[in-house]
Amino acid sequence: MSDSVSICVIGSGYVGLVAAVCFAEIGHKVICVDNNEAKIKMLNEGGVPIYEQHLPDMLAKHLNRGVEFTSDLAYGVQNSDAIFIAVGTPQGSTGSADLSYVEAVVSEIAHAMNGYKVLVEKSTVPVYTNEWVSRCMLRHGVEPGEFDVVSNPEFLREGTAIGDFLHPDRIVVGANNDRSAELLRRIYAPLSNGSYYTREDALPGMLSEHNPATLLVTSAQSAEIIKHASNAFLALKISFINAVSNLAEVVDADIEDIAAGMGLDSRIGPKFLRAGLGYGGSCFPKDVAAFYWVAQQQGINFQLLEEVRKINANQQDIFFNKVRGALWTLRGKKLAALGLSFKGDTDDIRESPALDLVRKLIDAGANVSAYDPAAMEKAEAILPPSDQLSYAFNAYEAAEGADALLILTDWKEFGRLDLQRLHQMLKFPIVIDGRNLYKPAHMVEHGFTYLSVGRPAAY
Ligand code: NAD
Repeated sequence: MSDSVSICVIGSGYVGLVAAVCFAEIGHKVICVDNNEAKIKMLNEGGVPIYEQHLPDMLAKHLNRGVEFTSDLAYGVQNSDAIFIAVGTPQGSTGSADLSYVEAVVSEIAHAMNGYKVLVEKSTVPVYTNEWVSRCMLRHGVEPGEFDVVSNPEFLREGTAIGDFLHPDRIVVGANNDRSAELLRRIYAPLSNGSYYTREDALPGMLSEHNPATLLVTSAQSAEIIKHASNAFLALKISFINAVSNLAEVVDADIEDIAAGMGLDSRIGPKFLRAGLGYGGSCFPKDVAAFYWVAQQQGINFQLLEEVRKINANQQDIFFNKVRGALWTLRGKKLAALGLSFKGDTDDIRESPALDLVRKLIDAGANVSAYDPAAMEKAEAILPPSDQLSYAFNAYEAAEGADALLILTDWKEFGRLDLQRLHQMLKFPIVIDGRNLYKPAHMVEHGFTYLSVGRPAAY
C-alpha cells in the first residue's frame, strides 16, 4: 500500500496490542514490542493474552503479515518512522501518574535512534509530559531535529476496543509542528477520510453505518489535557448519577426512570448515566487522581474531582451496607457473587469494584462463591480459593445453597438468567443487584426479594 507507514508500538497491553493490530488492519507495517517475554512468545505462537472481542480474528489475520511481535526494542525503533508508547502509567503514591515506564522506554528509544522519528504518547499522561519526553531524548544525546513528540491519546473502551479504535468519535493529534502532525494524519487517513470503511475485508458488521472519524489537531499540551479531562468528565457523570440514585432510593423514586428522563435531553445524553457500584478499571480512578494532582501542581484547586472520587468510594460502602442490611449478619453466610471484572465484556480486574466487594465480604466473615465469564483466572491469581472463597463454573453453581445472590458486574448474561432455575438453587430467594440488570416487578413476579441501586426494595 503506497501510504503505508512503518510503526513501532511499545507495550502490548489492552491499548498497545489493539493499536498494533488495528494499525496493521488499516494498512501499516507494525512492529509491536514488549519487555514481557512470555507475552511476546504467546503472541508469536498465535495466543491472545487478553479477552477482547474481535482480537483473536484480527491477530490471526495480521500476525507476521502486517504485525510482528518482539522484545527487541531497538529493532522496532530502527525499522519505524513513528513510535507509539503504550506502556502503563499507573497511579503513583501521591495520586500523580507514575511515568517511570514511559521514561524507561524513552531512554531506550534514545539509544536506538537511527534517523528522524516521531515519538507518540499513546499512554495517558499528564500535561507537559511531551516536554519531559523531549528533554529526556536530548539528555540521552539525541539531536533536536532528529525527533518530534506528539500526543495522540487513546479513547478505546475495553470490551469494544477494536471497534472503538477503528470507528472512533474523534482522533486527537497534539503536535507542536506540521511535520509531525502530517505523519499522524497519514497514519490515520484511512479512518479520517473513510477509505477503510469501504474496504471489502474490513471488520465486518460495522462498516456502512460509520462516518469518517473527525481528526482534531491541537497543541501537545491541549491533547494531553483532552484525555484527562474526558475521563474525569465521564467519571463525574457516573458519580453524579450515583449521588442522585442515593436520593432516589430514600424518596421511593426510580433512578432508571430518572436517568432515562435526563438522558433524553440531547445536551446530557443517556451514556454514563448508569447508577451502580461506581466506576473502576485501570483508567478512571487513576486518571481522576492524576488530573486532580496536575491541577494542584499548577496551583488550581479542582475540588470537584475530589468529590467525584469520594462519591465513588462511598457507593461501594452503600452497597456493602445494603447486603448486610438484607442478611442481618454476614459471618458464615454463603453469598453468590456474579462478576469480578470491573465491567462486563472484559477480563480486566484492575480497580474492580466487584473484586473489592468480594474482599470486603470475606473480611466480614462471609463465604463467597464467585463466577465471572472471563475474569476468574486473573481473579484467582490475586484472590486464591480458600475456606471462604470458591470459584464456580457458572452462575447457577455459584448460587447453589446461597443465602443471597449479588450481581456485581454488568455482564449481559447476568441480565438473562433463568430465574426459575436460580430460585431453585438459592437457599433464600434474595437478589441484590449492584448493576440494575432487572426490573423490580419482574423479580417479584418470580418470587424474589430484589434490592437494587436507586430504586425501592421490591418484595
Ligand atoms: P497494560 O498494563 O495492559 O499494558 C502495558 C504493557 O506495557 C504491558 O504489556 C507491559 O509489559 C508493557 N511494558 C511496560 N514497560 C515496558 C518496557 N519498558 N518496554 C516494553 N514494554 C513495556 O496497560 P494498558 O491498559 O494497555 O494501558 C496503557 C496506557 O494506555 C495507560 O497509560 C492507560 O492509562 C492508557 N489507556 C488505557 C485504556 C484501557 O482501557 N486499558 C484506554 C485508554 C488509554
